[in-house]
Amino acid sequence: MDFNLPEELQILKSTVRRFVDNELIPLEHEYRPDGEEMPEHLLRPLQEKVRALGLWMLDVPPEFGGAGLDLLSRCIIQEEVSRTAALPFRANPLFGPDVRPILFYANDEQKERFLQPVIAGKLSVCFAQTEPDAGSDPAAMRTNAVRDGDHYILNGTKRFISGAGRADYAQVIAVTDQEKRARGGISCLMVEMKSPGVVLEKQWHTMMGDAPWQIFFDNVRVPVANRIGQEGEGFSLGQKWITSGRIKGHGARSVGIASRALDMMIEYSKVRVTFGQPLANRQAIQFMIADSAMELHAARSMVYECAWRADRGEDVRNLSYMVKIVATEAASKIVDRSIQVHGGLGLMKELPLEWWYRQLRSIRITEGTPEVLRWRMAQHLIRNHK
Ligand SMILES: Cc1cc2nc3c(=O)[nH]c(=O)nc-3n(C[C@H](O)[C@H](O)[C@H](O)COP(=O)(O)OP(=O)(O)OC[C@H]3O[C@@H](n4cnc5c(N)ncnc54)[C@H](O)[C@@H]3O)c2cc1C
Repeated sequence: MDFNLPEELQILKSTVRRFVDNELIPLEHEYRPDGEEMPEHLLRPLQEKVRALGLWMLDVPPEFGGAGLDLLSRCIIQEEVSRTAALPFRANPLFGPDVRPILFYANDEQKERFLQPVIAGKLSVCFAQTEPDAGSDPAAMRTNAVRDGDHYILNGTKRFISGAGRADYAQVIAVTDQEKRARGGISCLMVEMKSPGVVLEKQWHTMMGDAPWQIFFDNVRVPVANRIGQEGEGFSLGQKWITSGRIKGHGARSVGIASRALDMMIEYSKVRVTFGQPLANRQAIQFMIADSAMELHAARSMVYECAWRADRGEDVRNLSYMVKIVATEAASKIVDRSIQVHGGLGLMKELPLEWWYRQLRSIRITEGTPEVLRWRMAQHLIRNHK
């Protein structure tokens, strides 16, 4: 058993770390991504530099011009870039267009219509699963698509959909068989946002600065040719993507944020003098540093192990639940302690800590709440206990 990262991953990690330290952290004084997209004059030169490093469209297979990296490599990159607050949190454009992985399951004709234009940056797609009465429990969704010849007629409401305002298509998860529902009765349809009957009903404004949408579908005609995968496969396609999202987008991201927050905590504790001594000399502060280091180590180890197992084709659903809970809760506590050690300064927008504090609060809710993930994990443990 070898707990060290293989040499090529250590090189990847230090390359990305150098890039973040030299190119991104200095930008934090110039650009705060609170709900705003990164301005083109900052983004373009950065994209050219990561392309030159071979880091472009990280999960897109090489036949479509991507780097085709495995999940562990992507987690390592995600961890390092999450050490800076100079990148938008949800849709990070640094490594190229946001390609929804469900599109990799498209047929050849759909790949030409959807995947290739997305890769070329000409088409934007949002993912629409959550509804007013179906969030943690997506199987309770009401949005339905009824077959009418070579079309579906789509009706329903989707809530909290990121990027819907600028999307050309929504990847809508809808019931196509009321009897089967989550057991093979839910499908994934590519719905053109300009179709008659698609209404952007409301934009919600969050504490994190981003603003997802509510979409109403009123008898929208969707060609059967726009269904990704077989009829009834939509639910499982959505779940596959969410599992890797929990490991990388939540787990590795939290680890990156926590590691910089801990660095900041240690550095500041060494220079801030109160009552004649640096904070670093006080046991109350030392305990915060030690607790943070322990929790960060546990979270990072779990992220790496889970990504490694996923790359070997193992079923990591339960482990991914643990990763999401442990890493997001650890990072929340570590950022909170770092704010505490910085005192009033920790609350100021000059430092990235308050921004991470708000973002981390959000990722403890999206893509699986800790209550529901714990519940699912326990069900699995109890069922399989011998
Ligand atoms: C900023 C933002 C962006 C988003 N973007 C998207 C997007 O692009 N596409 C998309 O489809 N969705 C998106 N979502 C939706 C997000 O995934 C849901 O908000 C999330 O799944 C939680 O669902 P809910 O809000 O309906 O909460 P609910 O499911 O109503 O949960 C409320 C509370 O009850 C608890 N709870 C629920 N069931 C149980 C149970 N069985 N036992 C114990 N406790 C329980 C939960 O843990 C939670 O604390 C986004 C949300 C936000 C805030």
